[in-house]
Amino acid sequence: MVSEGSVIARGEWHPANSSRSVAATLQLAGGLVVAVGDAAGERHAAAEPEKMTFSPRVGSIPRRIVFPDGSLFETRDNDAIDAYVEKRQGRRSGFVHRMEEFHPRLIVFAGLVMLLAAGIYRYALPALVELAVLLTPPVVPDWMGSGTLATLDRTTLSPSKLPEADRRRIGDGFETLAAKAEGGAGAYTLNFRDGGYIGPNAFALPDGSLILTDQLVELAKGDTDMILGVLGHEIGHVERKHSLRQLYRAAGIAGLIMLIAGDVGSGVEDILTQGGGLLALSYSRAAESEADMRSVELMRAAGRDPAAIARFFERLEEIYGDHGGNSMLSTHPDTPERRRAILDYDAKLRGVTVEKNGPDTSTPGAEGGRQPAKP
Ligand SMILES: [Zn+2]
Repeated sequence: MVSEGSVIARGEWHPANSSRSVAATLQLAGGLVVAVGDAAGERHAAAEPEKMTFSPRVGSIPRRIVFPDGSLFETRDNDAIDAYVEKRQGRRSGFVHRMEEFHPRLIVFAGLVMLLAAGIYRYALPALVELAVLLTPPVVPDWMGSGTLATLDRTTLSPSKLPEADRRRIGDGFETLAAKAEGGAGAYTLNFRDGGYIGPNAFALPDGSLILTDQLVELAKGDTDMILGVLGHEIGHVERKHSLRQLYRAAGIAGLIMLIAGDVGSGVEDILTQGGGLLALSYSRAAESEADMRSVELMRAAGRDPAAIARFFERLEEIYGDHGGNSMLSTHPDTPERRRAILDYDAKLRGVTVEKNGPDTSTPGAEGGRQPAKP
């Protein structure tokens, strides 16, 4: 960098409209470019660099640096001038400099495009997703479900090693739960599988197929209601068509990216083209909470412990702590808050029933803040 007061180049200074020439040096002083006479050290001209004109380099032709007052400094030291000009541009090559080069109208246009994209994402995309879900023929979820299960069976899952008695016990409970769900028991199928590396997990496919891993059953240690609570949650995902929504959302976002960037990452392509990709989509927080509440309702309707799924989250936290790995914790975050919401909802539903059935032995007004008793 050229320091203040330093010499830029040696040459001659010419007053405005005059052929007279004075031996001088071009110097930097106090942010100004100054032409200083060699003989008397006299300041012939001074100006801010922005207000001066530096002639471009053309072979070995002397460079002319014109001051605003019309006087000019001439030098054959092209390299020195180039060095100075380069340093000065380097100093200004920050954001402001680029803004100057960039057409302001282009920035406004880019801003409008981003605003439009944000608007589509925020308002149009959810509406389009809802429309797509409405217009999806029933055969599509069926095809998605069977395709995904086939892919999983080929790659990840293996046949269940659960004893027949366990399967029957869980299967019977599941029937009573599904009977209370939208579409009735016929709309849902429970599939037992060894989860392999996905560990203790349960998930639902858009066609109403639920997959329960042996590892989750082991984790429940005979607490059937806990397992059914998780299955109720998965039924909730199917009822509300959450996976179909997520898929359309991903497709819509991919479309947006394509519109803006003209390209879709291969990861997004994978999600859209591979059956197994369905599982890579995690549900939104709102969807998870909806499914949790649905579990409470279904368990309650089936005469089971409505808050059983809260115990499941508690168990997961005990075992895995914060590092859920491939377990349900990684796809189902924020378990402490969810547990609280589940217990609150359960308490709320019980409060409503108590009022409906007339006076109860419990003290009126005490239900609100009271924690529900654990069975
Ligand atoms: Zn879920």
